[in-house]
Amino acid sequence: MNEPTIFERSVSGRTGVYFQESGLDSTMTQILGEENLRHDLPLPEVSQVDVIRHYTRLSAMNYGVDSGFYPLGSCTMKYNPKIHEEIAAMPGFSRLHPNQQAESCQGILRMLFEMQCFVQEITGMDAVTLQPAAGAHGELTALMVFKRHFERVGERHRRIVIVPDSSHGTNPATAARCGYEVIQITSGTDGRVDIARLREQLSDETAAVMLTNPNTLGLFETQIAEIADLVHKAGALLYCDGANMNAIMGIHRPGDAGFDAMHLNLHKTFSTPHGGGGPGSGPIAVKDFLASYLPVPVVAQNEDGYYLNYDLPDSIGAVHSFYGNIGMIVRAFAYIISLGANGLREVSENAVLNANYLLSKVSDSYEVPYGTKCMHEFVASAVRQKPRGVKALDIAKRLIDFGFHPPTIYFPLIVPEALMVEPTETESIESLNAFADALNAIAKEAEVSPEMVTSAPHHTPVGRLNEAAAARNMELTWTVGD
Ligand SMILES: *Cc1c(COP(=O)(O)O)cnc(C)c1O
Repeated sequence: MNEPTIFERSVSGRTGVYFQESGLDSTMTQILGEENLRHDLPLPEVSQVDVIRHYTRLSAMNYGVDSGFYPLGSCTMKYNPKIHEEIAAMPGFSRLHPNQQAESCQGILRMLFEMQCFVQEITGMDAVTLQPAAGAHGELTALMVFKRHFERVGERHRRIVIVPDSSHGTNPATAARCGYEVIQITSGTDGRVDIARLREQLSDETAAVMLTNPNTLGLFETQIAEIADLVHKAGALLYCDGANMNAIMGIHRPGDAGFDAMHLNLHKTFSTPHGGGGPGSGPIAVKDFLASYLPVPVVAQNEDGYYLNYDLPDSIGAVHSFYGNIGMIVRAFAYIISLGANGLREVSENAVLNANYLLSKVSDSYEVPYGTKCMHEFVASAVRQKPRGVKALDIAKRLIDFGFHPPTIYFPLIVPEALMVEPTETESIESLNAFADALNAIAKEAEVSPEMVTSAPHHTPVGRLNEAAAARNMELTWTVGD
């Protein structure tokens, strides 16, 4: 499949559509003036069938969750039910104007209000905003809320945020963006928070500790109650990066465990499309004492029905135009009501079961540094293959030849040659077996013919790229004839 660009398919004078003389040219000339009209727009000149074939071929080169197994760790690439698309497209959701009066759009306001309640219930928190557009945006919103809280209670001197070295890059990036100094603590030998190190770092300058549970090694942090106690005794707040909620939904609520605020990734746990499929949504949920700082508006209810409440004088302000990525919230809402409470719990149980099954199928071929059991994902390592010259990157590339999307590699940073695998609950035992077979076959290849792996992929339109050149000598424009 060597597909030229649509511009290279262009043949002068060829067209897909013939327009009748409309007189529009002269009208536009009158309105805009001749000097503002272009007659030389360099669009490709192609027939309809050229266009259809070109984009159909391109789409076949794409890989998505609808084409195959996509075990990208930490990203929760589960199947996105198609019924959600139909529901989101219903005119009552899709044909509204965001400036409409509340009386004329009670349906969508009710949906948003109930979604806020669902998020409260699932997280064990007291108040919610649906505005943030991604997990990272939720983290930012929450730390702005924390900051506002410390301003209001007269503790502006709290200038430090503590994160473990296993944390997702968005945690320290968010803290730094909010003006905090970031202190990173080394994880314990069991891959969990080292409480002694945490205690050493906590002080009256600590604003917050950000933790992911289960953490990015796929391990449940078993000492959250003790950690929460320490953090609160130091006067600081405890934030939960909820990106890994797919492991614990309906089983464990971070709010009950002592966290003060958290985000959810609707585009991960709640099955809304991502990875090119749509914008994200990262609602945050907070405890009562933080509710008055949430972004405005929040969706509220009184005796007249549902309305948008802008009356939060301590609010940090809006963090998104209007009320967030509503279309995604509709899809996640549909997911929650179609599964129900028991269904959500089953999702998590099966996500954990699938990950452990896969872990047990590949642990003879690959090193798994942190334990023999995991939550919804596990982190293997290519250290056993490395002496043969085969790195995690090579294994990832070789998996493409077997028809699989590679797992996340080189994250978390604390595992050398990391291969982070998250199968999700939506995969069948046949898919899991096929993927395990491929990983085990690649481990064999690494022993007997390592160059087969290090030169992969062999069956893709574009082979191995020179990564250094791709980063340093970027060619960002292309013109016909190049
Ligand atoms: C995905 C992820 C994030 C960031 O979420 P985005 O929606 O991509 O901004 C943060 N932390 C963890 C652990 C994640 O997996």
